[in-house]
Amino acid sequence: MNYGHPIEFGTFITPLNDDPGAVVELAVLSESLGYDLVTFQDHPYQPRFLDTWTLLSWVAGRTERIRIAANVLNLPLRPPAVLARSAASLDLLSGGRLELGLGAGAFWDAIGAMGGRTLDPGEAVDALDEAIDVIRGIWDASERGALWHEGEHYQITGAQRGPAPAHDIPIWVGALKPRMLRLIGQKADGWLPSLGYLKPGDLQRGNRIIDEAAVEAGRDPREIRRLLNISGRFETERDGFLIGPSEQWVEELLPLVVEDGVGTFILASDDAATMERFAREVAPALREAVERALPGAFSAAPVRRAAVRAKRREGIDYEAIPASLADTVVEPGDAGFAGVRSTYLRGGSPGLVLMVKNTEQVVDALAFAREHRHLPLSIRSGGHGISGRSTNDGGIVINLSRMNAIEVLDLANRRVRVGAGARWMEVAAALEPYGWALSSGDYGGVGVGGLATAGGVGWMSRKHGLTIDHLRAVEMVLADGTVVRASDEENADLFWAVRGAGANFGIVTSFEFEVDEVGDVGWAQLVFDASDVAGFLEGWGAAVEAAPRDLTSFLIMGPPRRGQRVFAQVMAVVDSDDPETIVERLQPLADVGPLYNQRVVITPYASIMANAALGDYDGQGEPAVRSGLIEHITPEFAAAAELLIRSGVVYFFQIRSVGGAVSDVEADATAYGNRSANFSVIAFGASRQRLDAVWDELHHHFDGLYLSFETDPRPERIADAFPPKTLERLRELKERYDPTNVFRDNFNVAQLVPVGRSAEPAYELTTGSIA
Ligand SMILES: Cc1cc2nc3c(=O)[nH]c(=O)nc-3n(C[C@H](O)[C@H](O)[C@H](O)COP(=O)(O)OP(=O)(O)OC[C@H]3O[C@@H](n4cnc5c(N)ncnc54)[C@H](O)[C@@H]3O)c2cc1C
Repeated sequence: MNYGHPIEFGTFITPLNDDPGAVVELAVLSESLGYDLVTFQDHPYQPRFLDTWTLLSWVAGRTERIRIAANVLNLPLRPPAVLARSAASLDLLSGGRLELGLGAGAFWDAIGAMGGRTLDPGEAVDALDEAIDVIRGIWDASERGALWHEGEHYQITGAQRGPAPAHDIPIWVGALKPRMLRLIGQKADGWLPSLGYLKPGDLQRGNRIIDEAAVEAGRDPREIRRLLNISGRFETERDGFLIGPSEQWVEELLPLVVEDGVGTFILASDDAATMERFAREVAPALREAVERALPGAFSAAPVRRAAVRAKRREGIDYEAIPASLADTVVEPGDAGFAGVRSTYLRGGSPGLVLMVKNTEQVVDALAFAREHRHLPLSIRSGGHGISGRSTNDGGIVINLSRMNAIEVLDLANRRVRVGAGARWMEVAAALEPYGWALSSGDYGGVGVGGLATAGGVGWMSRKHGLTIDHLRAVEMVLADGTVVRASDEENADLFWAVRGAGANFGIVTSFEFEVDEVGDVGWAQLVFDASDVAGFLEGWGAAVEAAPRDLTSFLIMGPPRRGQRVFAQVMAVVDSDDPETIVERLQPLADVGPLYNQRVVITPYASIMANAALGDYDGQGEPAVRSGLIEHITPEFAAAAELLIRSGVVYFFQIRSVGGAVSDVEADATAYGNRSANFSVIAFGASRQRLDAVWDELHHHFDGLYLSFETDPRPERIADAFPPKTLERLRELKERYDPTNVFRDNFNVAQLVPVGRSAEPAYELTTGSIA
């Protein structure tokens, strides 16, 4: 009998409270010995025992890798709706390391649970059955409505759902009686008996009942892991079952795997030497013996519950996901899905999210995506895409957020390597201790992958240029799965293309930057009365252009509230820690209009970038954003911008200074080619149609656009994003590196053809399928 689960090992430690530290140390030892799991019995009515839930939390804080579980929780003492939240919380805090062992319990009447009444065995099964529904119902944060449960034992009247745990916490049940076993077959993820309580033949009988109940419930018996608590003694001579030398243990445990399908052995012992000997001598030898007896029979991918499989999307061959990606998979029915389906600005409902951890997994994920060419493919790093669609509906997302390492490669040359999934606030924080910084963007939550393949207009652009101007090399996975390094010396044409149009050419896994020495900087936030909108814009533009390069400034405006003035918020960074220089640079800005409020501090660049929360995102809908690059804020543009701001069509209007060092780089040196502009103009609107109508009127003012802030899918925008010669070269390279247009979701440089027959043609710019 084989349920396909790779063999795992755990420890089972008595939670005695006379020396609580010793219990915790045994848990820490379990982790260092390589056990997969550490567990504790749960008898809270026992004055000699630590409360197991509290202990689990403590152990989670003291360990890093090992999974933790009660063996098993006394359910009647732990109301399921509360337990669900406790479990989800501990799972989130521990990074997805909790497993939930449940039992019908005993002695609850002694401390007044369940009304102080003893339940008969049948009632206990029903209570457990209801509890599992309640627990999973609370965890199911993707369900919109509240949770209602009108049961015999539990009544839940409109409880809010959530939080979703960090992973799909498996529920194991410790039980022996047939009705309980049937319940396990119907609903649980694991069966956890203790060998000491089993009679010969009990495991086979139990498995049969569980398997039959599972099949009747439309489940696959392989969904249910078979765990077993064991105990024994190491002796030099054989002296009974699991009493003898290590070889004897291996010999005696092997049939339990091969014949009875046991996938997890949990060693009950409080003796460090026994735990160590088992880990060093029994576990590896048993793994090898099992591999010899059942070669290749174990898959790393868990078989998902039927309820999870029911939420799978059409057209994805989930069963064909390679074993190498097993630990990356998040499906629509999984607990973690709610946290990865959407991005910062977009709502999404992909059919599969692959949380890759290394380049090999990126290669495998891309190969799997290539097998699904009919589906949208999104590449996600930090999930802040405005132009790029890093989520989709029914397709595949390759999510690089776990590839977020930041390492110094060369101290003397200030060379650092940054994983695509890192965020800019993390990069700034990592560089600060060295007295270094890399101008990146204005928001710390933005990801490295999306920004550093497009441009990177940041708080110090005029002094230090674009982020891509600091790029010295990338590692990337091309459309055919080849892993290449691109730099000025290797694959130079690809390196040119990556700096401005990277999303078209592959998945960049890591970036090597040469960063700048930057000490503390001046950081100013000024609020103006900008009722003379046009005059203010012109004045601000002129002040910025006249300022030395160590000043970079951004400006934000919105439509005035009825009867109120127009306000402008101006931010500026002065790359200097000298107060006099800072004031000298800022004074001309402060003189542009009536100043309402001001705040100027001298602070590390990293503290300016620490302005984001790095949790999950729950964006809704689709952003409507337009971009234009402009050389000067002319009176004509300022007047047109005033009309736009007062129209109410735009709820967020921003101008960022570029120019300076950005313009020092030759226009054909990188794929980002619109280098003459001094300003990047951005407008967010609530309606795409209305925004496009007013923005199109401004088109003649602009010299191109910055693709990171553009969502218009019309093909003219490609010509705005890239100068003609640049676009020609990009298209040649696209033919060479991605001839079948695998990467197509973000300003696709491949020649686009109108699709559809309506008077207003649609264009395949986004994650649409390949013709
Ligand atoms: C609040 C906010 C503030 C912003 N501020 C600035 C700013 O100051 N300066 C600025 O220049 N931009 C800014 N942007 C725009 C930002 O640079 C882009 O949206 C960028 O794409 C976000 O990167 P990401 O990794 O977070 O995006 P994701 O959503 O993860 O990806 C967006 C797109 O980038 C591409 N991509 C992502 N990762 C990779 C990769 N590893 N390899 C190849 N292609 C990849 C894909 O096409 C993807 O669809 C801002 C955006 C937001 C939402």
